Amino acid sequence: MKKISDINGKWKLHNGVEMPYLGLGVYKADDGKEVINAINWALDAGYRHIDTAAFYDNEEGVGKAINKSSIPRGEIFVTSKVWNDDQGYEKTIAAFDKTMEKLNLDYLDLYLVHWPIKGKFKETWRALEDLYNQGKIKAIGVSNFLQHHLEDLMQDATIAPMVNQMEFHPWLVQKELQDFCKKNKIQYEAWSPLGQGNVFKNPTLKAIAEKHGKTEGQVTVRWDLQNGVITIPKSVKKEHIISNADVFDFELSQDEMAQIDAMDKHERFGPDPDEMS
Ligand code: NAD
Repeated sequence: MKKISDINGKWKLHNGVEMPYLGLGVYKADDGKEVINAINWALDAGYRHIDTAAFYDNEEGVGKAINKSSIPRGEIFVTSKVWNDDQGYEKTIAAFDKTMEKLNLDYLDLYLVHWPIKGKFKETWRALEDLYNQGKIKAIGVSNFLQHHLEDLMQDATIAPMVNQMEFHPWLVQKELQDFCKKNKIQYEAWSPLGQGNVFKNPTLKAIAEKHGKTEGQVTVRWDLQNGVITIPKSVKKEHIISNADVFDFELSQDEMAQIDAMDKHERFGPDPDEMS
């Protein structure tokens, strides 16, 4: 098991960059007070990792919150993603510049190819490699890449992705893909870790949560971490942001981990990567 200490804990990516294993997702947070407040509360609670994307249309607010915070830039890990319409070499370079302008930051910690758009993602990747080699991004990765996408990408890539951000929750585990990523030193990261709120309606998670005096959300976030998966639960509510990260005072037993693993139904709440590309 990877080491889990506290909210400030990090895991090393294959290029040596340390990535906080718990972050705040900001999909569907409005680009204004909503996202700024959420990030302020998260930073106060100890989060040091924010996950946005060009597609979320809130990079400006994300940047404002980070730039105004008293926490040094170097202590906050910021991820963004290149959107599907911007894929291809030249378009990706331009999209990255726009993202950096909106964020108003000097560098990005992690830039991801948002979806494996057929016929384009290799050129997109070449742009990410160049931006990385120029020192503009600390780490590069992909999102929503199944094993065949990763194999295809790595045939031509000069740098292997450091991260694969995938839909991951108790109903969608994709163990073989996780094992493939592990073998290739690609860090697995969970999107929709709370199953878009569905974990709060599940009796198995409820029973485990009650045993530990925790919530279903906390049990799920803890399950991610004990599985070695980086996780970015989303909320814009102060109490939920604080609660989702309060997962460092208990441990799930092997039996509890197995009970949650057994909930897997290969069920998605988001799009199938093979249908997006
Ligand atoms: P999530 O699984 O994190 O669930 C978020 C929802 O759960 C919230 O909107 C809220 O309704 C509920 N919730 C959160 N905390 C709660 C609490 N403590 N109590 C009760 N309800 C609570 O869903 P998500 O936003 O889809 O995923 C998280 C992040 O992953 C996103 O914000 C985004 O950053 C990223 N993401 C990436 C992709 C991708 O394609 N790479 C796709 C979707 C999401």
